[in-house]
Amino acid sequence: MKYIFVTGGVVSSLGKGLTSAALGALLEQRGLKVRLQKFDPYLNVDPGTMSPFQHGEVYVLNDGAETDLDLGHYERFTSGELSRLNNLTSGKVYETVLAKERRGDYLGATVQVIPHVTNVIKERIYAGGGDDVDVLITELGGTIGDIEGLPFLEAMRQFALEVGRDDVLFLHCTLLPYLKAAGELKTKPSQQSVAKLREIGIQADILVCRTEEPMTNEMRQKLSLFCNVPVKAVIEEMDVETSIYELPLALKAENIDDLVIDHLKLDAPDSDMRVWHDVVRRLKAPSHKVEIGVVGKYIELQDAYKSVYESIIHAGIANDTHVRIVRLDAEDIENDPSKYLATLDGILIPGGFGDRGTEGKIAAAKFARENNTPYFGLCLGMQIAVIEFARNVAQLEGANSTEFDSQTAHPVIDIMEDQKDLTTKGGNMRLGACPCELAEDSFSYHAYGEKLIHERHRHRYEFNNVYRDQLVQAGLRIGGVNPERDLVEIVEIPEHSWYVGVQFHPEFKSKPNAAHPLFANFIAAALKYKR
Ligand code: GLN
Repeated sequence: MKYIFVTGGVVSSLGKGLTSAALGALLEQRGLKVRLQKFDPYLNVDPGTMSPFQHGEVYVLNDGAETDLDLGHYERFTSGELSRLNNLTSGKVYETVLAKERRGDYLGATVQVIPHVTNVIKERIYAGGGDDVDVLITELGGTIGDIEGLPFLEAMRQFALEVGRDDVLFLHCTLLPYLKAAGELKTKPSQQSVAKLREIGIQADILVCRTEEPMTNEMRQKLSLFCNVPVKAVIEEMDVETSIYELPLALKAENIDDLVIDHLKLDAPDSDMRVWHDVVRRLKAPSHKVEIGVVGKYIELQDAYKSVYESIIHAGIANDTHVRIVRLDAEDIENDPSKYLATLDGILIPGGFGDRGTEGKIAAAKFARENNTPYFGLCLGMQIAVIEFARNVAQLEGANSTEFDSQTAHPVIDIMEDQKDLTTKGGNMRLGACPCELAEDSFSYHAYGEKLIHERHRHRYEFNNVYRDQLVQAGLRIGGVNPERDLVEIVEIPEHSWYVGVQFHPEFKSKPNAAHPLFANFIAAALKYKR
């Protein structure tokens, strides 16, 4: 197995995650089996408890691991399935070390960063791949120079020494700032961040330079000389024009895959980039256009609903349609929903926690139901649809989720008895892939084309089966049920253009060249019933 370590310098938000994912995609097109993983230097044991304001969305894997959103990029760009072994934080490392120390596993030794902390990190590098993997790409979060990142870099250095430099490649992402006054790109910050890496004993093999302006040859020479990398290993990464899905092609144009394959002495056939060309072609020249409103509470943040936005874009690709995403703050629309929603071709309510904005979301679901606007509710968005239907169609006055009103007269969404005493990780959340059996003749069955599906969950509350008959009698359709626990996983309104709420998170399983069927059908409905 071969190993690539991706680090970042100068500033954060360089798009290291995307660069890693795009490199993974390129190597996959060269016939190699690739796996990606992320090491995050912060002290949270996992990102599960972090606010989207702090860290963007929490991405959930099939095995239920709550992970960094970069793992979403990895899964969208490559075909490998990731597991909880593919995201490691300092918090987790220290948790492991301290548990060993308490058990007496260190046999009286003084427990130290080197070797005990670095050993745990190295073990995770060895474990991150798996038998079927040719190349393991490990991205380190944060920026070179961060105190927290040092044990990870030290572990990577030691690792390279252990397995040999031919099997390891260090890729450093950096920024070339453009100084308007001087009219030029500046290389000094990159030189310094590469020097900082060298101080720890790591020599970058490839330099990926984020830049707004094209690099001159002279500039490449200069970076090569001062950063001690061959000229051809100085890679230009300009901001992409329309979409992040252009990145594999952009990096291919710089021959980054050849560099990696040569350096790691891999034997790989030439690539077939048709899939990516096709994705980009469809993105750039769509035949149709729709407008989809996303009604949430972290609307101003780029990353809070990352996978949802990406899935909408994938569905656009599948429908040859440009989707304009209109981000709406639930609190704004509460009093006058039609002012914000009337011109939209579809309304989507994503997942969420806590009661801020819920009444605005309920108003949006009501608007969609009454105006035949295609509606797609994800997790909380499904619960919102149930509450709205209970209140306004089944006439269950004051119906609510006990998450928002513990004293509600009609707890149509509630914590199930058998979940109440569960004290598993994540505080009794239902996490990861669960089976769901679809009802024939439902919108969902029509979308998937099969009866038994598996989707990822991350929630505490459920549809309350006490109200099931009553709501069905009032016209709600149960589109899918968890066969093991008889939990309602999908609700639909049959007499409607397309109205689907799902208790799970389909956005974690969509890819640019394979849109998720529910997203694809939602956008198809938006197109069909275009305002
Ligand atoms: N807050 C809701 C619950 O815990 C929905 C969670 C979500 O949308 N991910 O059940």
